[in-house]
Amino acid sequence: MKSKFFIFLFLTLNLFSLNLEEEVKSRKFPIYYIKNTPYISIKTFLKIINAENWAKIEDRVFVFIDDTQIKFRIDDNNLIYGGRSFELKNPAKEIEGDVLIPLSDFSQIFSGYTPSTKKIFEEVKLNSENKNNKFIIVIDPGHGGHDAGAIGNYGLKEKDVNLDVALRLEKYLKKQLEKYSNIEIYLTRREDIFISLEDRVNMAKALNANIFFSVHTNSSRLNRENATGFETFYPYSKAEVNYLPKSINGEGEIIEENNPDPILSQIVNNLNETDVIDESRILAEIVQEKLAERLITPDRGAKRGNFYVLKYTPMISVLTEIGFICNPVIEINLKDVEVRQAIAETLGKAIVEYLKKRNFVD
Ligand SMILES: [Zn+2]
Repeated sequence: MKSKFFIFLFLTLNLFSLNLEEEVKSRKFPIYYIKNTPYISIKTFLKIINAENWAKIEDRVFVFIDDTQIKFRIDDNNLIYGGRSFELKNPAKEIEGDVLIPLSDFSQIFSGYTPSTKKIFEEVKLNSENKNNKFIIVIDPGHGGHDAGAIGNYGLKEKDVNLDVALRLEKYLKKQLEKYSNIEIYLTRREDIFISLEDRVNMAKALNANIFFSVHTNSSRLNRENATGFETFYPYSKAEVNYLPKSINGEGEIIEENNPDPILSQIVNNLNETDVIDESRILAEIVQEKLAERLITPDRGAKRGNFYVLKYTPMISVLTEIGFICNPVIEINLKDVEVRQAIAETLGKAIVEYLKKRNFVD
């Protein structure tokens, strides 16, 4: 009885604030000193904040927690957390394949970090039974940063439409799939930043995603003002098909993990290239079907497309083009928050319908 009380108290206290330095010391995690500055392994940090998904791509490190991302580079003093930029007095280091982060800088930045109750309960559940039994959807808002994508006559930028629709889609899906704690949704970007196509693919791989869903707004060189409609692409071919849970080590090598046996992931893990393309086509067709029910613009169909993110992601992948931003009438529509919300919900309905069709959800 007494011990239960203490466990409860520990969790409750944890909700208010995070003292990283104290957690590290009291839980006896190793501390490394570089020129007298204390550092901890990124794995220690992840354990303390209850996050487990992260990716290291060349010198860039991404950590995915709840609805936000932490990003920083090795030997660089800038860190982005929840869209805000922080200055690190001491940059992160990479030593023998391990990413080391400065303890006092991180302690300051994350002192206000409060893991939500929901997250703690989910964590307990995941640890007890279905840790590996996850289904991961990565939503990819196309373009960003210096790459605006297509730009409309009135100045609306594709990158902004894509991001806004993707964030709305995420919100809708999280609500719809709330009761399935093993389904997780991530975005390749949550802000107006540039991310290369390669990094988008690498993130999906590092997350062991099951579905990669890219959102774009198209533009036509011919017939610019009158081009209209929506279309969804699925891959011609896949450069690799590898569903076994894997992670990327410090050198960027892919390491296989030993425990790929949960039933859910087995279903999707045992697909060959033809199956993955077929599944992508089915998802693309559902997306088109749902958009056709909702939009008055023409249905240009589900078709094969030779896009980098479709070819190089080893999972089910589609790229949807929700409308022609180069058409002034469509551009005005895409500026409208209600139209974006309707499109996001429609894309969400399509994903849920696909999951139902495959009995991933009921
Ligand atoms: Zn685009």
